[in-house]
Amino acid sequence: MPEIGAIGAGAGTAAAVHALDDAVPDANVTVLEKSGGVCGRAATRRRDDGRYLYDYGANYVKSDDERVVDLLTETLDDESLVDASEPVYVFDESGSVSEGRDADDHKWSYRQGLTQIAKRLFDGTHATIQRRTRVETIERDGDAWRLTDTDGDTWGPFEYLLLNPPAPQSAALLRGADWDASVRSELAEAAETVDYRTIWTAVLGYEFRLDRPYYGLVNVDKSHELGWISREECKSGHVPAGESVLVAQANHEWSCDRYDADPARNVAALADHVADIIGDDRLRDPDWTDHQGWRYALPDSGVDTAPVAAANEHGLYPVGDWVAGEARLHAALRNGLETGEQIADAV
Ligand SMILES: Cc1cc2nc3c(=O)[nH]c(=O)nc-3n(C[C@H](O)[C@H](O)[C@H](O)COP(=O)(O)OP(=O)(O)OC[C@H]3O[C@@H](n4cnc5c(N)ncnc54)[C@H](O)[C@@H]3O)c2cc1C
Repeated sequence: MPEIGAIGAGAGTAAAVHALDDAVPDANVTVLEKSGGVCGRAATRRRDDGRYLYDYGANYVKSDDERVVDLLTETLDDESLVDASEPVYVFDESGSVSEGRDADDHKWSYRQGLTQIAKRLFDGTHATIQRRTRVETIERDGDAWRLTDTDGDTWGPFEYLLLNPPAPQSAALLRGADWDASVRSELAEAAETVDYRTIWTAVLGYEFRLDRPYYGLVNVDKSHELGWISREECKSGHVPAGESVLVAQANHEWSCDRYDADPARNVAALADHVADIIGDDRLRDPDWTDHQGWRYALPDSGVDTAPVAAANEHGLYPVGDWVAGEARLHAALRNGLETGEQIADAV
């Protein structure tokens, strides 16, 4: 029975484990995830016992990849797939809104939020998911991988290891790995060259329903401190009737400057921008708020393929959007499916 380990339970790992479970049903898969949930940056939070539900990382998954569309609409239950069908408009440096080209055919989430993607993929497999388990060190022991978490517990031996954290976090794990091979430093170096955009997100709840023709607003020329605003009430099942929940994402520069600033002040500053752009003064004063900083939100490029292929020869499989070369959920899922199949072939 092949023993397979995974660091991180993001969409990339979930799709890989799904593909693996299909091809090698007797594989023993253990996924170690540092947080309390699955699906990583495609993140959903519940508030008031699920009265409110919002995707506060990735906003939606696009229908740009046929295999991923099949996965979302056929393999996973499409009854609860929801589509934000209203268009995305644009705003400029001055905050002036105009109709934009709505580039995406579908803007999908689930009634219970985007985290359903990884939840359902994992639920359909035999994999064991260990939440709140942060991997601290990777060790190569003969032909096997052994992992130690921050509580000092050890995991493995694994013949194959999926490496799913964003590139800088994967690079740090590789730098500290007890594995005497040039492959390790070449992969770490390649991962370190992948730059990320940082996003600071405010979630703004209002006890009235905003009446606008759009789902989202994007600042295409990246000249405004705010990069994105969207309305969670456009996704069925997320927001009670008569209320609104806005997700506002600051641009990279603003997010880096204010990353460690007082969250209440950050939220207030973003709510003011939202009110100015949408043109409704009531939006300055939300009834409730939430926030999240995403240090490694979106990779600007993909990692070099050669060091990844070399690592694969040693049973190490980087997986996710930074391997796919596109900062998108569907790209992480597609890369996961392919990586899972690669491991299945190797097994
Ligand atoms: C604010 C924001 C908005 C976005 N908007 C969109 C959008 O609208 N549409 C879209 O398609 N994409 C969007 N994206 C991008 C999308 O979320 C990502 O491309 C996708 O979720 C990446 O999945 P992944 O599996 O590669 O990595 P991740 O989701 O980052 O998964 C990695 C996992 O590894 C875990 N981990 C890290 N270190 C350790 C460790 N040491 N031990 C154990 N576990 C560890 C993490 O907790 C995480 O669960 C957005 C991202 C952000 C942050």
